[in-house]
Amino acid sequence: MWPLDPPSVTADESYLACSRSIQDRREKPGKPARPYRRLLAAAAPDISAASQRFEKAAAEGSLLGLKAEDFRVPGFGDDEAHRVIYARGMVKNKAGRQIYDALMAAPAHERCPFCGHGIVRELDHHLPKSSYPALCVTPLNLVPACKDCNDLKGSFVPNSPESVLIHPYYDRIDDDPWLSAKVVHTAEPTLDFFVDPPDTWDQITVSRVKHHFDLFELGRTFGTQANRLVSNIQYGVEKLLRAVGSDAVREYLQEEAETRFKSQLNGWEGVTFLTLSEDDWFCEGNFIGNSGSTG
Ligand SMILES: [Zn+2]
Repeated sequence: MWPLDPPSVTADESYLACSRSIQDRREKPGKPARPYRRLLAAAAPDISAASQRFEKAAAEGSLLGLKAEDFRVPGFGDDEAHRVIYARGMVKNKAGRQIYDALMAAPAHERCPFCGHGIVRELDHHLPKSSYPALCVTPLNLVPACKDCNDLKGSFVPNSPESVLIHPYYDRIDDDPWLSAKVVHTAEPTLDFFVDPPDTWDQITVSRVKHHFDLFELGRTFGTQANRLVSNIQYGVEKLLRAVGSDAVREYLQEEAETRFKSQLNGWEGVTFLTLSEDDWFCEGNFIGNSGSTG
């Protein structure tokens, strides 16, 4: 959801760096010889063309139309292609690894662009390498992600316009506020997060963002973090309320929200403070005395 500047390294440069140090496999018991050097050189034009088709479709928002059968690597089995080109050529080989590391270093503060919260630990293949091996080292198909988001996405492939995931290099939804929450008025106040899109969004964008929010379980992640934060500030809020009153509580919460929105418009922290500041039940301290841990 959170945008990233597209990488500057091209698909052709990446493929060359990842493939040039791969050696042929000699015959081993149970494994035939494989002339990888010749096969990789012969596949270069197909890889280049596949990357161009991907980049054009991603820019036009038409990734859904790309068929997996058009993204095989000639001369390779599907699993063999990404094991050789990505796992050996990019992750484990020096020239490829430099590109891998540069892609991983792109997000500010190592913040995962899918959840805006977790620490970047892996590269996610936007179109999965198992089904689209020709894109396994295409930089625009490689997005840094936290482990949770990469696991939750798995080898997901969209099957409708509404399920096309938000792509951090191409989609710019974060210029608008789209994340909201409401306070659940219980003894220990908690927050429920949801997608609250602006009126200017088209219906497909709304559905895509809601699908992304559900697939990456953002409601659960944000809710858990926010509930900890509410619990942490409760004591201070009670003190402020008794000393100065509910207007001072609102002002404090608004200022905290404003500070956080400066760095992340749709971050759960800013939304938490804003939601609390707009909730009279919370600002007037109606939770006090309802919980064993307060008072
Ligand atoms: Zn994440």
